Amino acid sequence: MTLFCRAIALENLTIEIKELAITNNIRPKIFPVRVEALEKLTHDVMLMKLKLPSTDKLQFVAGQYLEFLLKDGKRRAFSIASPSHESSLLEIHLRLIPGGEFTEYVFKEMTEKSILRVEGPFGNFYLREDSEKTIIFVAGGTGFAPIKGMIEESIQKGMQRPIKLYRGARILEDLYMDTLCKKWANEFSHIEYIPVLSESLQEDAWHGRNGLVHEAVLKDFVNLNEYQLYCCGAPQMVEVAHKAFIKAGLPEDEFYSDAFTFAAPVKK
Ligand SMILES: Cc1cc2nc3c(=O)[nH]c(=O)nc-3n(C[C@H](O)[C@H](O)[C@H](O)COP(=O)(O)OP(=O)(O)OC[C@H]3O[C@@H](n4cnc5c(N)ncnc54)[C@H](O)[C@@H]3O)c2cc1C
Repeated sequence: MTLFCRAIALENLTIEIKELAITNNIRPKIFPVRVEALEKLTHDVMLMKLKLPSTDKLQFVAGQYLEFLLKDGKRRAFSIASPSHESSLLEIHLRLIPGGEFTEYVFKEMTEKSILRVEGPFGNFYLREDSEKTIIFVAGGTGFAPIKGMIEESIQKGMQRPIKLYRGARILEDLYMDTLCKKWANEFSHIEYIPVLSESLQEDAWHGRNGLVHEAVLKDFVNLNEYQLYCCGAPQMVEVAHKAFIKAGLPEDEFYSDAFTFAAPVKK
């Protein structure tokens, strides 16, 4: 490997920064969307389908996110759960935050056909396609949203890289779209689906994996040196998982994540 700080260029050269390569040509824009469908997936997860104006097409990469523009300059970030080839109808998986201004509004007052303003796409959480390594996806709760988009996009592109999809939830009800994940695993031999429950109920009659989702990964892979890992969900989960995966040999530059932090207060 060449250390750039020690190298002397002998002629003009172009340096490609991998991190910027795929998203730097995409400019975020502000546009209106119509709420085409609102469907409760669980008691606290809402599926929103957002329709763009017929004249508009959104250029994005699966895994990126949008910001809803609220009154007084407030913004709320939500990942796009659909792949980029379905860009006229965007899918969002929105978890209700008790006391949360926007998510409570969506659950209690919003109706279909409402018009909202959004800005996007943003973010660098997307599938690195220039690698042959096995992909490990680790999704906690609605952290499944951007990962769903990435998997659907990879299927549409005919990618054959092995995928291990780990999904963490508390109880069975929280594993929304479980049937879709099972369908992927049944249809495609390169996709494996491992749901993990941390507090399964007796009525769940759960015979699958138990515990924390990142611990399930660590049990299955003693050494993560040869893998690429994508992790998404609550900030605490992403932080703990990151430390544990690096300790288990995952190269730092093979860890990609989006932590679902709450919106920062608007500066006055
Ligand atoms: C890149 C990114 C992508 C995301 N994608 C998704 C996604 O796909 N799905 C999803 O469900 N979530 C996602 N999130 C998380 C989502 O943006 C937050 O949950 C969002 O803030 C919820 O908005 P809200 O208005 O309902 O809650 P907020 O009003 O932001 O409140 C959140 C919590 O903080 C408390 N709170 C608010 N203000 C204060 C204050 N001043 N002091 C103390 N407590 C306060 C509230 O009571 C509440 O408990 C994402 C976050 C990021 C950063």
